[in-house]
Amino acid sequence: MGDKKHLMVIDAHCGDGELQVGAIAAKYAKAGHKVTFLHLTAGEKGNPPDVPVDVYRDQKIRESEEACAIIGAECITLDYKDAEVQVNEETVIKVATQIRKLRPDLVLTHWVKSIHSDHSNVPKIVEAAQLKAGLSGFELEGYPPKYYSYLHSENWEDMEEYVPDIYVDVTETFETYLEAISKFWFVMNSKDFRYFDYYKALGTIRGCQNRTTYAQTLKFPVGGNIRKGKEIPGFPL
Ligand SMILES: [Zn+2]
Repeated sequence: MGDKKHLMVIDAHCGDGELQVGAIAAKYAKAGHKVTFLHLTAGEKGNPPDVPVDVYRDQKIRESEEACAIIGAECITLDYKDAEVQVNEETVIKVATQIRKLRPDLVLTHWVKSIHSDHSNVPKIVEAAQLKAGLSGFELEGYPPKYYSYLHSENWEDMEEYVPDIYVDVTETFETYLEAISKFWFVMNSKDFRYFDYYKALGTIRGCQNRTTYAQTLKFPVGGNIRKGKEIPGFPL
């Protein structure tokens, strides 16, 4: 069985994390690891013309729960409003409290540069919550401290200066991933962006680069891949 871990995906909107790392998440879930998606908002303001924002919010939460069930993950959506995600003390404490409660070993989150401010704010919140969740002297509803590391994920709106550091072979779970993301109305029907085509093609291109059929990628935090030790990593004396 080995040592089972908890992988957590923290993103801005229902569907973001599922699109970006859904196949990686499915791979770890299939191997017996716990996987949780935490969405800060439903992303309800990209509503279809004939669906009110509040109705679309419920729809997106339901779609996300269906997608996560296929991936093999838990799904939590907080009640922040779409396009209003702020980096402030209240948000950081709410995320840090969730972290202490759920106790992930690794968090995957958006890259730091984006055309969407909700996206670029989330990794700032994750970074600030890392300190508050980890500090033993910081009281958070009685939960014990929990330190976690985090990596960034690849998304079409967040590509400025995104160069992958890590390629993960997701060949075995890519069909499951495509089934999961097809649960989202916007993935299959958006007139603004061809989500399904893009992410299927992206998994294929990253797979070519990884010399596997399909792959998804991750990136270290800025300055987060510094190694300190007695020799060159991977090149023993
Ligand atoms: Zn989003």
